[in-house]
Amino acid sequence: MGRLLIIGCGGVAGVAIHKCCQNSGTFSEICIASRTKSKCDALQEKLSGTTDTVITTAQVDADDVDALIALMREYKPDAVLNVALPYQDLTIMDACLACGVDYIDTANYEAEDTEDPAWRAVYEKRCREKGFTAYFDYSWQWAYRERFREAGITALLGSGFDPGVTGVFTAYALKHYFDEIHEIDILDCNGGDHGYPFATNFNPEINLREVSANGSYWEDGHWVETRPMEIKRVYDFPEVGEKEMYLLHHEEIESLAKNVPGVRRIRFFMTFGQSYLTHMKCLEDVGMLSTAPVRYEGREIVPIQFLKALLPDPASLGPRTVGKTNIGCIFTGVKDGKEKTIYIYNVCDHQECYREVGSQAISYTTGVPAMIGAALIVNKVWDGDGVFNIEEFDPDPFMEMLRTYGLPWVVDEHPQTVE
Ligand code: NDP
Repeated sequence: MGRLLIIGCGGVAGVAIHKCCQNSGTFSEICIASRTKSKCDALQEKLSGTTDTVITTAQVDADDVDALIALMREYKPDAVLNVALPYQDLTIMDACLACGVDYIDTANYEAEDTEDPAWRAVYEKRCREKGFTAYFDYSWQWAYRERFREAGITALLGSGFDPGVTGVFTAYALKHYFDEIHEIDILDCNGGDHGYPFATNFNPEINLREVSANGSYWEDGHWVETRPMEIKRVYDFPEVGEKEMYLLHHEEIESLAKNVPGVRRIRFFMTFGQSYLTHMKCLEDVGMLSTAPVRYEGREIVPIQFLKALLPDPASLGPRTVGKTNIGCIFTGVKDGKEKTIYIYNVCDHQECYREVGSQAISYTTGVPAMIGAALIVNKVWDGDGVFNIEEFDPDPFMEMLRTYGLPWVVDEHPQTVE
């Protein structure tokens, strides 16, 4: 029985909160705290009477470490689940350190203002030394390892689907199917259709920054960088069908390259429709994806935040999205001296998610693993002092809970591979 403080109340949080309430044996109490308290109150009201979990709500600005500390001292949680934005990772980790509370998130740290000279100096040094130019990387959060170890608390990084389940699938493949894994292809396919010419399935700012950036993959001990959307493949996804997919940089490549001994190549592909790519390119060309503030009629606005206000709220896509997602990993390696390939994946149906928790499958496939990671930390099934990526823990209890909480998976021992 534990108390969980959940920070953020958007699309992913909504699902994680529903799932915590389905798991009241672990989460006897939760507090939903976010910038806009009315969203927390609305969810509390929707769930009251449907669960034994006691739900409270609070307003908090997660950019403010002191405000977070005050909330944690008052609520006394066993763990904090960060489902706000990657911009808040470090402030929430600072507050967890100050209060001696375990930490779980779903995305690695990203700077909000990429024009900030202090951040830029560190970023440019990292680009030179490591060879990939994404605005996010694990170095900021891995730098907390010693402090979390000394404080005797756990940080679990990246407990969504990708990163998250993809790391658990990797640990599971390594534990049960391979002596050594040599190649990993992570495939993220959204075969859903929301009927809008252009919308993003999760936070537009984070999504568009990720997709419009250079791609990269890990090969033979170093990063290979590509232009945005330079590498395209076609794959016939089980239960979805044939889709075009593009190579992107993705954060779990960085941790898997470190945590999978002997791995030679790791790539990440995501499917996109032509309409999405055309709109994104046009918005980028006119400067609407910029995070640098501009002055407009006497006030400062951030173009991508203004764009977010115009686009459909990802949380509102649920009722209109039909179709399925298929996300998984193809592993090639050796077992008992013989080369083999397996594909572990989950298929999730947008409309089934909507019927169950009122959201589309992208939030669902992230919110379920966020709850599972938090449950394993609160129950001390996963325990350790320091900062950990998800593939560093025993995958079996997580895989078991994926089946129980709505994300069953398939192991295909004869899959189509990616050229
Ligand atoms: P949303 O934009 O829907 O929700 C973000 C929430 O955080 C909102 O409730 C927002 O408040 C709140 N928030 C933002 N800033 C602050 C702040 N300073 N203080 C307090 N609360 C704040 O995002 P999503 O739910 O789509 O995404 C949540 C997280 O999940 C992101 O980090 C995203 O990168 C990650 N993600 C991970 C995936 C994975 O597979 N690993 C996949 C998809 C998403 P307000 O309502 O006021 O705006």
